[in-house]
Amino acid sequence: MASFKEHVGFSGLLGVGYGLAATFMFGFQPTQAAVAGYLAGVGGMLPDLDSPTGKPGQEIFSLTAAVVPLVLIGYVLKWAGLPTDTETVMLTLLLMYFAIRYGGSWLVAQLCIHRGMFHSIPAMLIAAEATYLFYPSDELSVKLLMSGAVTIGFFSHLFLDEIYSVGWSGPIPKLKKSFGTALKLYGTKFGPAAFAYALLAFMTFVTLEDAGIIGPPEPRQATSPSGDETEDSENPPDFQQSSEALPLQSASRTPDELTDAPRFQTQ
Ligand SMILES: [Zn+2]
Repeated sequence: MASFKEHVGFSGLLGVGYGLAATFMFGFQPTQAAVAGYLAGVGGMLPDLDSPTGKPGQEIFSLTAAVVPLVLIGYVLKWAGLPTDTETVMLTLLLMYFAIRYGGSWLVAQLCIHRGMFHSIPAMLIAAEATYLFYPSDELSVKLLMSGAVTIGFFSHLFLDEIYSVGWSGPIPKLKKSFGTALKLYGTKFGPAAFAYALLAFMTFVTLEDAGIIGPPEPRQATSPSGDETEDSENPPDFQQSSEALPLQSASRTPDELTDAPRFQTQ
């Protein structure tokens, strides 16, 4: 398999290219492109999270423990209903760091075998969807940029692992025993694969719902100023119409509008 340095070098290089393309071809801010390039580099390390006892594993866990709390701190504070004063934020960040650095690596060491489901296409998609969901931005294009960066980095790792499992020394390339263990769709054990696919299915559902592709429109749209304005301007005429006209009207509405509680309070 490729070494830690080779993985980081390769995914980092891809990240630089990705960042440059994002700025000069797609008009993203240079700072956004820099973060994207960095995330591509980190994505290239993620699959080796499954070997937390080795030096690369420790390095990756330290880095993950430092980066993840910064991204998630807003969600955690909101979810736990904590105040946002400096000390609470600092203590929460520290707590998250230790939980990931030591708790997380201990858990992974108990549960995972190297080159298990962490080295797989489903794991790559899970990482991409997690980035999309948790990246703190309201702009769809920025979320997609970051999620794409992690995907590229992650894929580069799997790709490099496969390249290294081909022996190029002889006249005919020989496949080593490890061939096919990185770029795979399922592992040798049922449990981890089933867990990975269950998680992938759940994450995909949440992601598609968040993007407004399936289910009711995302909450963000409902709370946005423009959304409120159109709703408000549509609502008043509804209240003034006669009760005979209502059944016909409501039949033509989408299920989301039908469950809109305030509209029925005046009846
Ligand atoms: Zn690997």
